[in-house]
Amino acid sequence: MNMSFTYDALPIRVRFGRGTVAEVATEVARLGAQRALVLTTPQQAGEGERIAALLGAASAGVFPGAVMHTPVEVTETALAVLRESGADCVVSVGGGSTTGLGKALALRTGVKQLVIPTTYAGSEMTPILGETQDGRKTTLRSLDVLPEAVIYDVDLTVGLPAALSATSGVNAIAHAVEALYARDRNPVISLMAEDSIRSLSSALPILVHEPGNMEARGMALYGAWLAGCCLGAVGMALHHKLCHTLGGTFNLPHAETHTIVLSHAVAYNAPAAPEAMAAITRALGAPDAAQGIFDLVRALGAPRALADIGMPADGIERAADLAVESPYWNPRPITREAIRDLIARAHAGERPVAAVPAEEAA
Ligand code: NAD
Repeated sequence: MNMSFTYDALPIRVRFGRGTVAEVATEVARLGAQRALVLTTPQQAGEGERIAALLGAASAGVFPGAVMHTPVEVTETALAVLRESGADCVVSVGGGSTTGLGKALALRTGVKQLVIPTTYAGSEMTPILGETQDGRKTTLRSLDVLPEAVIYDVDLTVGLPAALSATSGVNAIAHAVEALYARDRNPVISLMAEDSIRSLSSALPILVHEPGNMEARGMALYGAWLAGCCLGAVGMALHHKLCHTLGGTFNLPHAETHTIVLSHAVAYNAPAAPEAMAAITRALGAPDAAQGIFDLVRALGAPRALADIGMPADGIERAADLAVESPYWNPRPITREAIRDLIARAHAGERPVAAVPAEEAA
């Protein structure tokens, strides 16, 4: 066997199962922390109160103010509450937005983080933080923001609405897909990526019809954990860059944007990443990776057109310009016209088209 790779495994303790949230006080103590401030969104404040009650004497209260895109103003308010409370740990209960706030606090104070994810976004497994200030989003990668411990409790994901389960799940699949053709990919992460796609693509179609199916919930959360590991370990490419650009420029919802763009990004990269495509088709049980993802999204009843989630038609040219503005690594070279066509198809909700451009076919 002739292979060569570098793999930095991340030091995160993971507990996975049903009813695992009951161990929250034990896990906080295991971090060497005395008092934990619970973070949530306003929508999940009730869940936050429940976790605070489980923490008992170790609870330093609840901050139910997390919002999308981790704005620095919100972080500063939370920072004041954290200092006032005397907490030496945060327990982030929710999706990527809440986890982002916990990471932003850890970056500024070194406070320990225990995350209890309730979506499939995967942020809990990554050393990545995106923050916004004055409408600009910046992203950093640092072990300083990596959570120390994660409790996955399948029971906490039951309330995730069917539509959000679908798009959040495809958002997770996107991490696994791009890990398979990452420049710094390695065999361990590729195993995780393939199993992630297999688990999520089999669980999600069940969940949209039966959101309370616990076996499927467990399978989806397991797939999301694996996807988070992929995102945390290797670099992403065209799909994530494109979603970042589209989301930031047109203020599009995060998980829906990923759900719409993924099949098109896969079609674009297919000619340059045959091994990744083989793994995706194995995992999906479909003859073609891009078409298989498109069919999955259709079966989930999730949005398929950027036009339907608020992207204006006259934004296509601007998006194409922005997408090629700063160079980044991708398995297939980025050309403006091909990216423009990709965005146009995603905007209209058309099927992805795998085309090898003349300059590469020659
Ligand atoms: P989110 O955290 O914004 O949550 C969306 C909404 O769903 C919120 O109102 C939340 O309270 C609610 N919700 C969450 N779980 C629920 C549940 N089980 N039941 C009912 N309601 C629930 O959405 P998200 O998709 O998890 O996260 C998106 C954000 O995370 C984006 O800002 C994205 O950039 C970021 N993200 C970061 C990373 C990273 O590694 N840094 C990775 C993935 C996503």
